[in-house]
This record gives sequence, structure tokens and C-alpha cells, in this order.
Amino acid sequence: MAQSPESKNDGLEIERLFGAAIKPWGIPTFIGAFGAGIFAWLAGADPWILVLIVFGIATVLLGSQALRVNMARRGRIFSPWLIAIPIISAQLLATGFAISYGGMEGGLWFALTMISTVAGQSLDKKWALGIGALGALLVIAIALLTDQFDISHGPAIFAGSVYVFTMAGLANHQRTAAITLADSTNRDRIQNLETHNQQVEAIIGALQEGLVTTDFEGRVERWNKALETLAGRRLDEVEGKQIHKVLRLAKKDGELEEAEHPCVRARSGRFVAGSPIGEPERDLFLITDDEILIPVTVSAAPFPRDHDQHGVVAVITDVSRERGISEMRDALISLVSHELRTPLTLTMGFADLLADGAVQGEEAREYAIQIRDSTARLATMIEDLLTTAVIEAGELKLVTERVVLDELINTVVERFSASTSSIETTIPSGISVSGDAEKLEHVFSNLIGNSIKYSPENSPIRISARVDADEAVISVKDEGIGIEPELQSHIFERFTRSPDENVQRLPGTGLGLFIASEIAKAHGGSITVTSSPGSGSTFEVRLPIWHQA
Ligand code: ADP
Repeated sequence: MAQSPESKNDGLEIERLFGAAIKPWGIPTFIGAFGAGIFAWLAGADPWILVLIVFGIATVLLGSQALRVNMARRGRIFSPWLIAIPIISAQLLATGFAISYGGMEGGLWFALTMISTVAGQSLDKKWALGIGALGALLVIAIALLTDQFDISHGPAIFAGSVYVFTMAGLANHQRTAAITLADSTNRDRIQNLETHNQQVEAIIGALQEGLVTTDFEGRVERWNKALETLAGRRLDEVEGKQIHKVLRLAKKDGELEEAEHPCVRARSGRFVAGSPIGEPERDLFLITDDEILIPVTVSAAPFPRDHDQHGVVAVITDVSRERGISEMRDALISLVSHELRTPLTLTMGFADLLADGAVQGEEAREYAIQIRDSTARLATMIEDLLTTAVIEAGELKLVTERVVLDELINTVVERFSASTSSIETTIPSGISVSGDAEKLEHVFSNLIGNSIKYSPENSPIRISARVDADEAVISVKDEGIGIEPELQSHIFERFTRSPDENVQRLPGTGLGLFIASEIAKAHGGSITVTSSPGSGSTFEVRLPIWHQA
């Protein structure tokens, strides 16, 4: 749709253009006109000539000032009458002078031309042409009232009236041209700004890191895609809300207070153009919509906005992987320094005694058994570490075949028969799962081994199985020490062990359940736990039922 040029003009641009036109010519003209008036007066002319000049200057100044304010505010806060009335008064005054100074000979219709020009520049088309037409009529009126409406004055009357009218139209065309020019300049500028804005938005959207910006009162303005995914909250859910309420952060000891929030603290900082975004704050956790804690670093800095005010820009980086690696390194160091060293020291001690020949007979046999058990523990730990590395590398491979469940479980239970006699199995025969027999043995070995390890001696362990839709559900239930509720969701993570001293005094790596759960997942199944401290735990393994191809 075509827009009228005036509807979209930018007041400041118009003001600049008119200002540029008026300053070099307008001021000398006014001074010249005023000087000429004084000169004419001193030379004996009617003092009213000064009044006319002052009034003319005032008209032009008032007209252009009104125009400037109108344009700058982009609206018509002044009625056009405010400009038109002084202009029309000037027209009438000039007419009066023309009449008293001899009509057409007075040449004052020239003043009417000037006035038409001001009208054309200051008002919109219909007003400008109206005032132009009035000027043209006044030229004819001057001729009539001074008895000069005759053939000898004909050309002057005709040229004068046409000139007065056309000057209003011409000046109005200039005004329209200036407005259109300003408009297209502004359109270009707006277009450039929009392109620039789109580029910035595209860059922010493509960032891997979360990015948020706020206004000067800490209300969220931008919230990129990465942050939507990380925090589980969409931009439309957080827009306009206080940053510390939607970008919830925690340290190890709990959620951050408003005053501790990096974005809130950054708001009180001073923005220094070109200064790098602040040092990232580490050891922080982002609290997601589901109340999950994600390890993050947050860099926040003041962000320039309108005038002197500033908001905040913050970059949130998910460092779960890095923190996971560093935790794994710590866990590995503690594993090597304690869990691996203990059986090794034992083995070496017993082996030394045997080598010295200091012990004989039954005692020597006992030592040999200790050496065998310690070495077996070492072998298991090394095996678990290697399997973890294979899982981490995404290289856990299954050799899937039909596995008859009761056979598999009985084989595993058999292996524990030496250490306990209290395992009770109720596995219906005829259930077969689709799986890797060797890896599944590892899973049940770990679960049954844990049940024995974390229960009082000879406390009952019940293993049962049932079919649920397309899955076999095998449960391993003990009446042992149980697992603290807050630990239950973490025990399938690497190196997780209960801090309970009943657990800590027993050997273990915290890798068994991680491996078992990863094996179950690789089968398309799962392992879950229900437990209450002091009364025991039940682990449930779900595996896909075997279907004849
Ligand atoms: P490990 O037994 O070598 O410590 P796991 O990964 O097998 O490692 O088990 C992780 C942790 O889960 C254990 O350290 C223990 O705290 C807890 N846990 C596992 N099974 C049981 C169970 N049957 N009863 C009580 N706690 C258990």
C-alpha cells in the first residue's frame, strides 16, 4: 500500500533538512530585510514598513518553529491554524501596505510571494494551495481597491497573481520532496538496522552456549535456543520476568539468593565499552524446570542500552561433561590409591611370607586363598574399568541370541553357592529373553553379589521373574542395609557409592551398577531400584522377550 510521505516521515531528519536550508540563507535574508527597513525608515519612509518587516520575520520564524516541533514529535500537536493565522495576517498586512503605497506600483505583492513560499513549506498541500489562492486573490484585490484593474496593469496583475499562487505550490513540492527523501533515507536506515538485527539474532540463535540479556531493571529480553533447551523454559515463558527467578542457579550448598546471582551482581557493575565479558563463575548449577541440577559456568557483564542505563548479558555454558571428566579423574585416583592398592598390598604381604618359607601347611593354604581372592578382586576391578572405558567410547557390542532365563540365573546363583545358602529363586521355566548371555550373566552377578555384600550374613535373597507385555521382569530382592532415598537416583552413575560406613568399609568401585544398567539399556531394557534404608532393596531388570524370527 502506498504511504503518504508525510505519514512516515522522521521529524528529526526533516528538521535537519529544513534547518540546513534556512540557516545559510534565512538568517542573512532576515538581517538584510531588517537593515533595508531601517534604511528606508531613516530615508523618510513610513515607519510602518518596520512593523511589516518585523511581522514578516516573526511569521517565518514562528512558522518554521511550529513546523520543527510538529515534525520532531512526528504528530500534529499544533493545529495548522497556528501556522496559517500569522501567514494570512501577514498576507493581509502586506496587502494593506500595497494599497497605501500605490497598489501595483508599490510592488508589495512581492511580499505576498514570500508569504506563499513560507505557507508552501510549512503546511500540507491543501493549506498551502489555499493560502496561495488567497494570495492570488489579494493581488487582484489590491488592483481593484487602488483602481488599477485596467489593461495597463493587466500583465502585472496576471503575472503577480499566478506567481503568488505557483510559489505556494512550488514550495509545497519542495517540502514533499524533502519529506520523501527523508523517508527513503530512514527506510534505508531501518532496513540496514533490520538486517543487522537479523544477523545478531541468527548469531545468538546459533550459539551452543546459553545467552540471556536483560533490560536495566533485570527483566529478561533475550533467551536463546540453547538456553531454552538447557533450562527447559521457553522465551515466551520467561520474557519480562526477573532474571534471578527464571535463571535459577545453585551452588553445592543450595540455591543462590537474589543478591548472589551473577546477573544481579553484574547489573551494579559499570559498563565499559569494549571490555570483555566477565570471568566465568564456576561451581554453579542451573536448576532446570524439572528441578534437575546441571553444572554450568556463568559469565555476566553489564550491557549497554538506551541512554545511560544498562542491562546485563550473560553466557551460560553447560560443563557437565567437563565436570564429569574431572569427577571421574578424582574417582579414579581414589580408586587406584585405595581400592587397587589394598588387595595388592595384601597379595604382596602374603606372597612374601610364603616365599620366605615362614608358613607351612594349613596356614600356607589360607594365605594362598587370600592371594587368590585379592588377585580376583583386582582382576574384577580392572575388568570393570575396561568395560567402563568401552561403554564411554560407545563401543559396547552385544552378541544377541536366545537366552533361557532360568538357566542363566541358576548358573549365576550356582557361583554364589559357596558364599551363601540363602538365595531363593522362583523363575518360571520357559521364559526366554533376547540378549547377550555373557553380558547378562555379568548383570545378575553384580546384582546378586551386591545383595549378598550389602546384607547381613545369610539374610534371604529372593530372585523371581514374570512376564509383563513384551518384557521379562526379573527382580532381585534383599533384606540388607538398603539405600538412602537421595542416593537411589544416582547409584547407576559411575563411581557412586553410599557414604554410609557399612558400605565404605566393604571393597567396591561404584562401577558395577553403572555397567549393569548400561548393559540392560543396550538390550533395550532397564534396571530400577526401590529401597528403604534398614529394610532392604529390590532391583528390577527389564529385558525384551525372545521372539522366534
Ligand atoms: P560397588 O558395589 O562396587 O560399590 P555398585 O555400582 O555395584 O558398586 O553399587 C553402587 C552402590 O550402590 C554401592 O556402593 C551401594 O552403596 C549401593 N548398593 C548397590 N546394591 C545395593 C544393595 N543391594 N543394597 C544396598 N546398597 C546397594
